[in-house]
Amino acid sequence: MSIRFDGRVAIVTGAGAGLGRSHALGLAERGAKVVVVDRGGAVDGSGGSAYAAERVVEEIRDAGGEAFASALDVTDFAAVTAMAQDVLARWGRIDILVNNAGILRDRTFAKMEMEDFRKVLDVHLMGSVHCTKAVWETMRRQNYGRIVFTSSSSGLYGNFGQSNYGAAKAALVGLMNVLHLEGRKHDIRVNTLAPTAATRMTEQLMSPQALQLLRPESITPGVLYLVSEVAPSRTILCAGAGVFAQTVITETEGVYLDEAERTPEGVAAHFAAISDTSNESELTEAFHQTDKFVRMAAQHKGID
Ligand code: NAD
Repeated sequence: MSIRFDGRVAIVTGAGAGLGRSHALGLAERGAKVVVVDRGGAVDGSGGSAYAAERVVEEIRDAGGEAFASALDVTDFAAVTAMAQDVLARWGRIDILVNNAGILRDRTFAKMEMEDFRKVLDVHLMGSVHCTKAVWETMRRQNYGRIVFTSSSSGLYGNFGQSNYGAAKAALVGLMNVLHLEGRKHDIRVNTLAPTAATRMTEQLMSPQALQLLRPESITPGVLYLVSEVAPSRTILCAGAGVFAQTVITETEGVYLDEAERTPEGVAAHFAAISDTSNESELTEAFHQTDKFVRMAAQHKGID
């Protein structure tokens, strides 16, 4: 099986550097027309320059691909909407959106300024919401769309000093879960990437040996699969250093406590069984949990 993107139109945000650049080059190399979105600027989101996006567009064109640059800020919904209209006017469709733009403003929660918390949520979460909203109707109309959100192990598992970033990155998983359900009828598949790569975002945090192994290019094949015609949906794909894994959110079977035991002490007494992961399962819709609880309670009460 060969994965190609001929005739497909892709938007990649934060594509002027690091992971986004690698994804944009990878898509273009396999035939996609690519919109390289990047406002430039520093890791903390300060400053800005059109140069970052333009340079990657040049790289794509030099390799024989088709691309254009947009130096918009993903927090600006009007600009994002105008860009999507521009893409439709030029190329007639939008098949792929890779939400990748991101910044860091790390502090312990004790020292965190609300402005830095909001700014990080704004770029990662609302930036992804804006870009997705701007292409959603087009993808519904086309009955085809592939969307990737970029999460992080910080959001999935926690990382000291990243309450703002972790909250934003975990929120993207919630957004994926819902959009997967809402997009299914129109073959819009929505997935999440949790990458680990050597970029300017991480170069201070890792040893030279680790940085050597964690090249952004080792992650891009996973993204290309997630936005391909054979993509899964509602998958959290973790990738780094050539390793690919999947994060799955599961729930333990649970324990029914009858009225006599339904006290804080009862929950404490049964907590080992409540949290027993030997019988966990993956629930793929919120109501599956309600159904399970009601079924378990009804069984205990002898109700059909
Ligand atoms: P990077 O700093 O090299 O790239 C991020 C790009 O996003 C930059 O080019 C930047 O200019 C752009 N950008 C930032 N804010 C923007 C905005 N408001 N509008 C438009 N563009 C904007 O960092 P990276 O490591 O390549 O990160 C890419 C994504 O991967 C981010 O979402 C990041 O949180 C995520 N991530 C990275 C790692 C890692 O190990 N590098 C780990 C987990 C998650």
